[in-house]
Amino acid sequence: MAPEASFIAIIASAAAMTAIVGGRYLATSGLFAWITGRVLPGHYAGLDSQIRREILWSLASAAIYGIPAGVVAWGWQAHGWTRIYTDADTWPLWWLPLSVLVYLLLHDTWFYWTHRWMHRPRVFRVAHAVHHASRPPTAWAAMSFHPLEALTGAIVVPGLVFLVPIHVAALGTVLTIMTVMGITNHMGWELFPRRLVHSRIGHWLITASHHQRHHESYRCNYGLYFRHWDHLCGTDSGLSEAFSRSSPSSPARP
Ligand SMILES: [Zn+2]
Ligand SMILES: [Zn+2]
Repeated sequence: MAPEASFIAIIASAAAMTAIVGGRYLATSGLFAWITGRVLPGHYAGLDSQIRREILWSLASAAIYGIPAGVVAWGWQAHGWTRIYTDADTWPLWWLPLSVLVYLLLHDTWFYWTHRWMHRPRVFRVAHAVHHASRPPTAWAAMSFHPLEALTGAIVVPGLVFLVPIHVAALGTVLTIMTVMGITNHMGWELFPRRLVHSRIGHWLITASHHQRHHESYRCNYGLYFRHWDHLCGTDSGLSEAFSRSSPSSPARP
């Protein structure tokens, strides 16, 4: 392929991926905002100007997520870059679910430590205050990040596909979990049954009840999908009391 044709193909792929990420955000956040309006009418009352800001920051983040993803998708199609595979027999079948778990665990680890770093006061003011300007967050806040914070998130999956083999459908599953959990963790109410959230399994999983507490208290509950880093590092403060008056989780630590 001529260099000019490659350049145009890269730009087209980055633009297409930006449109996909932005469209996916609008459709999915819109769906959960609509469900919120049905389940808890008036829950987002008075938050119109905050929601407008959340949507603008999120659409800017869509480009920051879409550009590296688009470049990598082009390289995968045009040059066989990445370890994404399409034939399910390339790796053993057990790797399909395990690869999803490995991606989520690696993303969670990256997120936990970059998130803690972004809570250092000087970094917070520059890179993370935008996300915490949502008080309380809504279903539209899922990608409401300053561009620097968006960049720390945008490089994770495009980087991992060069290192860890994954079937294209398993990758789709990872991206779906990432999108849905990013939205539901911010929408201001608990989607998952109380029996799960307060169970032994729930003790290790992050849902809205856990992340809401991060938005209330700031210096705790830094994880993304799992609570093991928060438990190990003593930063787990249990679940939001606004969501649950009788949390069995560990009490808040200073
Ligand atoms: Zn958040
Ligand atoms: Zn934070």
